[in-house]
Amino acid sequence: MSSTFQIDFSAAHKPVIVGIDLGTTNSLVAFMDLTGPKVIPGPEGERLVPSIVSVRQDGEVVAGNPARQLLIEQPDRTVYSVKRLMGKGVSDIGEELRLFPFRIAEGSESVVRLQLGDRTFTPPEISAHVLRQLKQNAEAYLGRPVTQAVITVPAYFNDAQRQATKDAGRIAGLEVLRLVNEPTAASLAYGLDKRKDGVIAVYDLGGGTFDISILRLHEGIFEVLATNGDTHLGGDDIDNRLIQIALEDIQSEWGEDIGKNREAVQLLRRAVIQAKEELSFVPVTKIELEYQGKAYRRELTRDLFEKLIADIVERTLGPCRDCLRDAGLSPEQIDEVVLVGGSTRIPLVQKAVETLFKARPHTELNPDEVVALGAAVQAGILAGDVQDKLLLDVTPLSLGIETMGGVVSKLIHRNSTIPASATEIFTTGVDGQRNVLIHVVQGERELAKDCRSLARFDLKDIEPMPAGMARIEVRFLIDANGILNVSARDLRTGKEQSVDVKPSYGLTDEQVEAMILESYEKAEEDIRERQAREARVEADTIMNALEKAKQNDAWLELTDEERRTIDEALNRLLMVYHSDDHLLIRQSIEHLNNVTMKLAENMMNSAVSNALKGTKL
Ligand code: ADP
Ligand code: MG
Repeated sequence: MSSTFQIDFSAAHKPVIVGIDLGTTNSLVAFMDLTGPKVIPGPEGERLVPSIVSVRQDGEVVAGNPARQLLIEQPDRTVYSVKRLMGKGVSDIGEELRLFPFRIAEGSESVVRLQLGDRTFTPPEISAHVLRQLKQNAEAYLGRPVTQAVITVPAYFNDAQRQATKDAGRIAGLEVLRLVNEPTAASLAYGLDKRKDGVIAVYDLGGGTFDISILRLHEGIFEVLATNGDTHLGGDDIDNRLIQIALEDIQSEWGEDIGKNREAVQLLRRAVIQAKEELSFVPVTKIELEYQGKAYRRELTRDLFEKLIADIVERTLGPCRDCLRDAGLSPEQIDEVVLVGGSTRIPLVQKAVETLFKARPHTELNPDEVVALGAAVQAGILAGDVQDKLLLDVTPLSLGIETMGGVVSKLIHRNSTIPASATEIFTTGVDGQRNVLIHVVQGERELAKDCRSLARFDLKDIEPMPAGMARIEVRFLIDANGILNVSARDLRTGKEQSVDVKPSYGLTDEQVEAMILESYEKAEEDIRERQAREARVEADTIMNALEKAKQNDAWLELTDEERRTIDEALNRLLMVYHSDDHLLIRQSIEHLNNVTMKLAENMMNSAVSNALKGTKL
């Protein structure tokens, strides 16, 4: 349980909008102060909150560092990397299930549910626990309530993944004012908008994902030209490689394969991560593991480390070249390179990037903080604290509708800058047709069945006409968050039908509402439990004091009647001590306090007279 803190709800400040990097591995919250964007530390001064959630045996849900601890103790009640499941349906997650120990609850249908102990959670609910921890950290630090946020998402996130991220915010009690693409946020953090024109490459190698984005800056406006990457490439691959080597060593030294022992592997994971992170700053370090009385120790030089991971670093370069090609640019045309993600601290990674783009990358800011800092800058822009900045982002996948024969007609092409809109006229395929089905799809393939189905709706009661005569206008509109609205209109009758696209794999408004309610209910329960515990602590204090007082002469100076009253009051407190009603406990404490008043006075007197005796010599 985190410590309690005071929130000044009467603060005359205008509400603060925070910027949040909701990462696969780590999450952070930042805000704009008078001097610029600042990362907000947690209660122990920690800047990164691991994106890990765990359900303790007593049912309390914890996020961040306490949850990371539980990853070793209770792996089947703990979940990480849940960003990979955001906005996905059960049929989309085969690849993730192969690579990650996600436990999908039975009966999961369009929305995935994860099993943690005896409870189940959707990915947005899990993320909401991480967000709630960040919100709490921010409130404790700023001393006022925080209810509005800008949250970053990978540039390639589709509609469903963006919606799921917004849902997570709402469940956590945060109004998500804007979703910003991570590379755009990173460029903002570096203030690259200060230069007039240029092309920026943002290379983001985090824990489990690699993203490369190319942005164009024109007249202080950012435009994402192209994005690429690998959703299963990052620091985790490096960790796994080192673990593999250590396991082989241990096998030959101890004659024992500890690879099947989850606890041992988790401990080893920590050890290799520590060694890896140190090697970014020193030329040689050690991997050390102590387990069940045995010790393993191995020296690792940066030279050897670089050889071991060379192919992993190399794997980032293909997507970079593809991204350059999509943007229609050669490496020489890149003016600035920004490094994002903790793994870009590795000198070999920096070298590889510099060689490819023929430009020295920016490393002045902490690579695991730049996205959150940029989100805070965007929050500042929305709050009106920062002026003269406008952001343009890009839609990662093409959007269109299914037409005759199951063929896709694209309205908005991939990598179009957003907000964006497109309008096209369609017609009917059958004589006298009265209804048209508008099937909205997302993806690059030609046939609708190979694309992702986003929504279907009917435009009803159109005027019956011979095939090919009706004129139906379909309009796509993507807002600044990358979320799509589709409308269809019969131009003859003016009849119109429109939907905010609710992705096929997502939560309904009702489900989100229910989760918010549930979290409030749980919050009340949590508060009640805390108040009862606090009251019990107070009861302990007074009962201990009474115990001591009974050894004092002052106790004997009371009348029998007075002593009986006190014992009765003590029994009353003992009776309610385990009640979960803190008011009941407090009433009994107060009663005991009242009836022991005289005893306390007597003791004071004897203490005073003893003290006076003492000075008399
Ligand atoms: P994400 O964006 O995936 O949430 P981060 O940007 O926080 O993740 O990056 C986390 C990764 O960065 C982890 O694999 C971590 O081990 C790695 N990392 C952090 N610091 C260093 C360092 N000094 N050297 C090498 N890798 C590091
Ligand atoms: Mg990240």
